[in-house]
Amino acid sequence: MQVIQRLPIHLSNQIAAGEVVQRPASVVKELLENSIDAGATEIFVSIRDGGRTLISIMDNGTGMNEKDAVMCFERHATSKLSSIDDLFRLDTMGFRGEALASIGAVAQVEMKTKTAESPTGIQLRFEGGSLITKEEVVCAKGTLIEVKNLFYNIPARRNFLKSDAIEFNHIEDAFLYLALAHPEVSFTLHNQQQPLYNLDASNFKRRISEILGKGGADKIFPIESETDIVNIHGFLGKPETAKKTRGHQYFFVNRRYFKSSYFHHAVQTAFEGLIPEKTYPIYFIFLEINPEKIDVNIHPTKTEIKFDEERFIYSLLLSTIRQSLGKFNLMPSLDFEVETAFDLPSSFRNQPVSPPTIHVDPHFNPFTKNATKDKSFSPAIQQAGFGMNANLENQWKEFYEIQKELPKEQPFPEMNIHANTEFIHSGKYLIAPIRSGFLIIHVKRALERILYDQSIANFIKQPLNVQMLLFPIEKKLELQEIRLFKSHLKLLEQLGFNLEIIESMLLIKGAPEMLPEDAVVACLDSLIQKLEVQDQTQEDIAHSMMAEMVKSTAKNYQISNKSEIQQLVEQLFQCREHEVSPSQQKIISILRHEDLNQFLL
Ligand code: ADP
Ligand code: MG
Repeated sequence: MQVIQRLPIHLSNQIAAGEVVQRPASVVKELLENSIDAGATEIFVSIRDGGRTLISIMDNGTGMNEKDAVMCFERHATSKLSSIDDLFRLDTMGFRGEALASIGAVAQVEMKTKTAESPTGIQLRFEGGSLITKEEVVCAKGTLIEVKNLFYNIPARRNFLKSDAIEFNHIEDAFLYLALAHPEVSFTLHNQQQPLYNLDASNFKRRISEILGKGGADKIFPIESETDIVNIHGFLGKPETAKKTRGHQYFFVNRRYFKSSYFHHAVQTAFEGLIPEKTYPIYFIFLEINPEKIDVNIHPTKTEIKFDEERFIYSLLLSTIRQSLGKFNLMPSLDFEVETAFDLPSSFRNQPVSPPTIHVDPHFNPFTKNATKDKSFSPAIQQAGFGMNANLENQWKEFYEIQKELPKEQPFPEMNIHANTEFIHSGKYLIAPIRSGFLIIHVKRALERILYDQSIANFIKQPLNVQMLLFPIEKKLELQEIRLFKSHLKLLEQLGFNLEIIESMLLIKGAPEMLPEDAVVACLDSLIQKLEVQDQTQEDIAHSMMAEMVKSTAKNYQISNKSEIQQLVEQLFQCREHEVSPSQQKIISILRHEDLNQFLL
């Protein structure tokens, strides 16, 4: 007797439907994604009774011809998947050809669709996945799909649905995920025939502001960061808009909504000290990343996504947000005119604020031990130019490890810089009275630190910019020096030098943009000395070269007015390691009252 049987098609579709169609919101998500994939620029959504009696979605996309329209409700019917490789790309929303079949299996579906080429459209009716009627109709280009009586044939699932209000909330979420990710498309949402959203085609900022409601545009500030691994852009709520409840918090990757408690933590950490405890900032953060670097979300309803470079993205996110908070004067500790410059929640006003302890690595560190599962560099990093020689990997890894190991304890707990602390400029130093005495900042070293941090951050992303010299500089080399230069030519190139060695002559054709021209030779001289030290790794050399270069740059720097002072202090405290210069010299010191007393005895 035969035991094994094939499941009837409609049954297997129902089973599959259980995965795809969990609730009305899943239908909305799938249909909206299809409309977007079909190139729609206008999408109308209408919902009745939490989606259980009607979900109607109309778009002005490509539409379907008769054959496709009949086919699209079949299992694994898709126009988007032509090879298995495509499964590993996330460019289009749907890619499995499963959504419509699943929806069709558990609802009564009516569809009208028309392509641009065809003079007439076609209207189809499906029930439980079977085609009931098919007729020619007159309609506009695009597709209208009406999903009626969801789960009409599966009472168990129907009973499982929550109240209409809750189901509608989920629908609204799904709608917003798509609307936020596609501001160039206009979206309308009606519930019980009442308009709820009417979003015109626009840009990210306007779309977000519209969704936030009145005054929305004033509540947010932008973030932006581009690296070879990931690009980040988006908008976050200013600190004062943080709420006790989690409101609008969205991550998107390649315009696909996802949840991540890990990245959420990065955002929350960036706001640490700026918003009251147990409150949540709003955020709309978009990541753009090579689809191959994402663990493809093969499960249609899952919103978690795995990233290859998770730790890297975490620190980049954190430092990008921190930077923007600083840039838009949203960090109380660094603003010197707090009274007028911006409005803080009252709990922050007139409070002594300690210098920010930013536990961010602005030199993000993709090379820490656990950063990547395997030890290989991402191709993006390799292209960035500094891991050019494959066997240098470990050395580079350590180089960035050095950045990380710096002491993190707050060494001057009493160093309370008040919001209105005034620094005076006296020769080499900036001096400000603080509670325990006087705070002294060594200007040149501070500048070295700032430049160094910036340059390293740039250097990680790409080689330093070269400034070609109008008149190449010639420099005679010793035999020993020739050898040294030759063996470090690649590294020097990445640091912004354009050098050529002709016999015993070093021809300096280009130098790092940041280096003043008259400092080029002196800088190379001291580089030679550095290179001569035995047993140095590449990263030691890069490290000290960078320190050397910023020294030369800082040398010519003159601080003159108040706003420059303010900027310098601000930038210094944004550096994670703001107490010692890259050459390990003290930047900050405190002259204590006790010491002064001693001194004046
Ligand atoms: P997938 O989106 O994974 O391809 P679906 O079951 O969601 O699978 O859709 C099946 C196919 O039906 C799509 O590949 C597309 O060709 C077509 N289709 C679905 N919705 C639309 C629409 N709104 N406009 C045009 N074509 C559509
Ligand atoms: Mg689809």
